[in-house]
Amino acid sequence: MKMRIAILSRNRSLYSTRRLVQAAQRRGHKVSVLDTLSIAVEVGIGRYEAAPIRMIGTSALGLPRTFGVPEVDAIVPRIGTSVTFYGLAVVRQFETLGVITTATADAIACSRDKLHSLQTMDKAGMPIPRSSVIATPDALISAVQAVGGLPVVIKLIRGTQGKGVVLARNLATAAAVLDRVYAAKRQALVQEYIAEAHGRDRRLIVVGNRCVAAMERLAAEGEFRANLHRGGTAVPFQPDKETERLAVAAAKAHGLTVAGVDMLDSDKGHLVLEVNSSPGLEGIEQATGVDIAGEIILYLERAARQKR
Ligand code: ADP
Repeated sequence: MKMRIAILSRNRSLYSTRRLVQAAQRRGHKVSVLDTLSIAVEVGIGRYEAAPIRMIGTSALGLPRTFGVPEVDAIVPRIGTSVTFYGLAVVRQFETLGVITTATADAIACSRDKLHSLQTMDKAGMPIPRSSVIATPDALISAVQAVGGLPVVIKLIRGTQGKGVVLARNLATAAAVLDRVYAAKRQALVQEYIAEAHGRDRRLIVVGNRCVAAMERLAAEGEFRANLHRGGTAVPFQPDKETERLAVAAAKAHGLTVAGVDMLDSDKGHLVLEVNSSPGLEGIEQATGVDIAGEIILYLERAARQKR
């Protein structure tokens, strides 16, 4: 069954976008890359007119504009963090039209808010690092106590790629970091530091009900963050049944059918750190040799069959 698939991405030359296009074409689908910001989200239009109106114009941003949402069967949203608000509106619009998506707007919103994401996993009974959020820096001492004492990790609630993730070994550093965060009118959470992870974390890619690829990342010398953007290195990793079960449950708790789940190995067992709704494919495809883009397209085909 041939599908019309749209990759929502601002940049068609990005590795993940290119790979998804390639994978869809290989399976014989009609695939297009739609710049998220070129799609106008319109509601209530056409309801009172005798015939639907279609126009071509230019949006306020000077971008070519598509009125209404193009007709497609499925979308793969790759919404950059700088366009989250608009991107979510576009994804929601596709959902309203019954288009299959690898991530709903609510699921993307939840995974982008580290606190909301942790609350969601906590509610689902999943093992997560102890974390505390405080409204003002004055409550720092109680937050540090709540997570088990120093050192602590301080994280911007809306940070990505390891930016805005700081290890504070003493209260003075923690207070200075939080002061800067609040002065910038941003929010951060205080989290227990999992020292026994030794700068190692795991990224599992969940597609549908299973883990299709996994890698272990090791932080660069002198660094505790294992992100590849922070100089981490990756090797393939074979998750045990429990690790895979947790990753799939974490994706499901967020309502994501495609997700990158980050986990740490602690003295207390596996902990889920966070869930990413648009996991980068380059690092993990290269580390594992798995055709993850192909798996995502196969998932869309299964979803379309189920819908029928
Ligand atoms: P981001 O979304 O910016 O990647 P993460 O919460 O995933 O933020 O943190 C970045 C990296 O820092 C993780 O991949 C992990 O290697 C390390 N890290 C994060 N939180 C902790 C923690 N509580 N204890 C130990 N290491 C951590």
